[in-house]
Amino acid sequence: TGATRNRRIWVAGHRGMVGSAIVRRLAGDPVEILTTSRAELDLRDQAAVRAWVAKEQPDVIILAAAKVGGILANDTYPADFLVDNIVIEANVIEAAHRAGVERLVFLGSSCIYPKFAPQPIKEESLLTGPLEPTNEWYAIAKIAGIKMCQAYRRQHGRNYISVMPSNLYGLNDNFDLANSHVLPALIRKFHEAKQAGRSEVVVWGTGTPLREFLYVDDLADAVVFLMDHYDGDEPINCGAGCDVTIRELAEIVGRVVGFSGELVFDTSKPDGTPRKLMDSGRLAALGWQAKTGLEEGITEVYRWFLHEKAGEL
Ligand code: GDP
Repeated sequence: TGATRNRRIWVAGHRGMVGSAIVRRLAGDPVEILTTSRAELDLRDQAAVRAWVAKEQPDVIILAAAKVGGILANDTYPADFLVDNIVIEANVIEAAHRAGVERLVFLGSSCIYPKFAPQPIKEESLLTGPLEPTNEWYAIAKIAGIKMCQAYRRQHGRNYISVMPSNLYGLNDNFDLANSHVLPALIRKFHEAKQAGRSEVVVWGTGTPLREFLYVDDLADAVVFLMDHYDGDEPINCGAGCDVTIRELAEIVGRVVGFSGELVFDTSKPDGTPRKLMDSGRLAALGWQAKTGLEEGITEVYRWFLHEKAGEL
C-alpha cells in the first residue's frame, strides 16, 4: 500500500516468536525492516539504545522484545520478569521519543487484566482489580509499558499505541519444559510420549482453566494493520475470539501429534487465572479478524517442531 512505502520499521525482538512473525509478515511489503541482534544492541543498555535509534532514525518501532515465559518461569524469576521488561520498555520508548520517532507499537499481554475481570475482558478492565499472582511481575511491567505509551502521547503528542494479544503460539516458540507456555509444552510432551511408547502424559493443574490462543502470524497481521489504522490512547485487544479448557487443548494436541494414551493431571502445579478470554470487538470494528483455527495452527507448529526442533531435543 502507498501508506507503507519506504518506511523504515525497526522490529525490536526479531528473533522471538512475535518479532519473527512480524518480520515474515512485512517481508513482501515495500518497507525497510531494521533488526538488531542481542550482541549488537543490548536493549537493557540505555545509552546504547539511545545512540542506535538516533543513528538509524526508524519511522516506526514495533516493540516485540521482552522477557517472556510460562506460569512456572514467572514464579521462579520474578525479578527478571519485572525489571528486564520495564528497563527494555523505558529504554526503547524514551529513545524513540528523543529521536523524534513518530510511531511505535508496543506489545503487551492479556495477563495485564485483573484476575477476576468480567469475561470476555474489555480494555476498560485495566487496573480495576488485583492481578493473577503467578504472573503479576510480568503484568506490572507490561502495564508500565502501556502507561509509557499513554504518557508520551499525553505529554508530547506521540502516536504510540499498545496491542494486547491473548496467549500466543507459533513457529519459533520456546519448547523448554521449565520455561515454556502450555501449548509448546504439550506438543513436546505428547511427541516424546509417542516416541517413547508411553501410555500417559502429565498435564499441569486441573485441566479446567480456560485460555484463548492466537496464532502468532495472525497477531503479526493485526499489528501491521493497527500500525496504519489505530491511533488511540487505550490499549487494543487482539484475540481469536474463543477459548478452550486446558483439557480440551491437550486433547487437540494429542490428536495432532497422534498420541492416544491417557492424560494425568498434576494438581500440585498451579492453574493460574481461571479464564482470560478477551473481548476483541474494538479490533473487529476496525475491520480485522483472526484467520487461523486452533487445530490448523497447532498442525503447522507441530510440522515446524518436527522439522526444526525434534532432532535437537
Ligand atoms: P498462563 O496463561 O499465564 O497461565 O501461562 P501457561 O501457558 O504457562 O499456562 C496455562 C495453563 O496451562 C495453566 O493452567 C497451566 O497450569 C496449564 N498447563 C498444563 N500443562 C502445562 C505445561 O506443561 N506447561 C505449562 N507452562 N502450563 C501447563
